[in-house]
Amino acid sequence: MSRKKVLVLGGNFGGLTAALAVSHELHGDVDIRVISASDRFLFNPSLIWLPFGKRRPADITFPLAPTFENHGIEFTHAEATGIDLAAQKVTAATGTYDYDYLVIATGYRNNFGVVPGLGPDGNAYTITTLDDAIHAGEGWRRFLDNPGDIVVGASQGAGCFGAAYEYLFNVSYRLRKAGLKKQVKLTYVSAEPFLGHFGIGGLPHGESLLSMFLKKEHITAVLNTGMDRVEENRLVLADGRSIGFSYAMIVPPFIGQEVVRSAGEIADDKGYVKVRDTYQAHGYDNVYAVGIAAAVSVPWQTATPVGVPKTGFPTERMAHVAARNIAAQIRGETPRAHEEFGDMPAVCVMDAGNNGVIILADKMLPPRKHGLLIPGPQAHAMKLGFEKYFLWKARHGYVQLP
Ligand SMILES: Cc1cc2nc3c(=O)[nH]c(=O)nc-3n(C[C@H](O)[C@H](O)[C@H](O)COP(=O)(O)OP(=O)(O)OC[C@H]3O[C@@H](n4cnc5c(N)ncnc54)[C@H](O)[C@@H]3O)c2cc1C
Repeated sequence: MSRKKVLVLGGNFGGLTAALAVSHELHGDVDIRVISASDRFLFNPSLIWLPFGKRRPADITFPLAPTFENHGIEFTHAEATGIDLAAQKVTAATGTYDYDYLVIATGYRNNFGVVPGLGPDGNAYTITTLDDAIHAGEGWRRFLDNPGDIVVGASQGAGCFGAAYEYLFNVSYRLRKAGLKKQVKLTYVSAEPFLGHFGIGGLPHGESLLSMFLKKEHITAVLNTGMDRVEENRLVLADGRSIGFSYAMIVPPFIGQEVVRSAGEIADDKGYVKVRDTYQAHGYDNVYAVGIAAAVSVPWQTATPVGVPKTGFPTERMAHVAARNIAAQIRGETPRAHEEFGDMPAVCVMDAGNNGVIILADKMLPPRKHGLLIPGPQAHAMKLGFEKYFLWKARHGYVQLP
């Protein structure tokens, strides 16, 4: 019998983990190919440090081809442009690839369209991609020569609030180091209904802890607000209020990649794949989606739309669930691994320059039994250590390690 073909789209947290985990589950007895638009792995959590020169792109990326080759996985550096579910084929500039099992791990794109004035040619920076963070760093260096007030925020529909908070506190830390803290007014603007909501509904004492952090750093918060537009040096809120700035970093909402939309019925209106708790797409038992590409639903509605952060930890968990199920199917068994996104533990560190908060909860989404926030400098040390550990683990393909 010919070996089964597993095709993985995307080579970052979700794709890299899924491809290597399938190979591990089947002891290499399977043909796996990864097609990725980027030829490098990017440790996105460290993008918060890049604009300040604390990290260079080479520090937080590594080439994907050697990692996959060392594990007997084919790697194609190309953007997938079409998915034909009926024919079980994926199209890319480099050719057409057929599959028995498909894993979609194509992550996110910025949706700058929600607020006029956001985006690469707009009036505020963002840090959610490598290019954006490099650009934000160029702006930061210009700012240091000619300082003024700063706005850091997350727009309506954004989900990646952790990155906004981390950038906010890192900006505050950098301002102090540059001797600018007293003269610069720093404002946090967010769609969250309350401080420390984080897009996961908040955690016990989270609001008071974040309030304390903001007070200590003399940061003003404007919450539960949409943004109308970003003009040159001025953020106009949905209710007409405006805040002036010399430098602004705003996290936009994310949407799925165009290629997911090409798959038709399995895509939702944001371009994410509608999945079951096995990470199989609805209606297609041989098609999986993991990480940010997988659609998740949240148990609340907020006055200002708030997205959900699909962070690295649940992304890896989804990839392992998918890998176990693909391996089971290839062995002729029923796929039995399952775990709802909302039931996965929340494990995260919010960095604050030389300080931070360790965030732990038994579940990503409420109702929860346990949630714990541990502030202190050990959180910053933990983030530094985790970055090194994760890049080592991923580069060597040791995805079975925690
Ligand atoms: C600034 C920032 C800070 C963050 N901080 C943290 C943190 O502290 N802790 C945490 O747990 N998480 C954090 N996250 C979230 C974390 O980065 C995500 O959970 C993770 O990146 C999701 O991985 P993914 O593989 O699903 O998607 P992505 O990382 O988006 O990877 C998608 C991959 O697919 C490729 N791709 C895209 N389109 C195509 C296509 N058409 N064809 C082929 N390949 C394609 C891309 O090139 C990329 O390699 C942060 C995210 C950001 C942006």
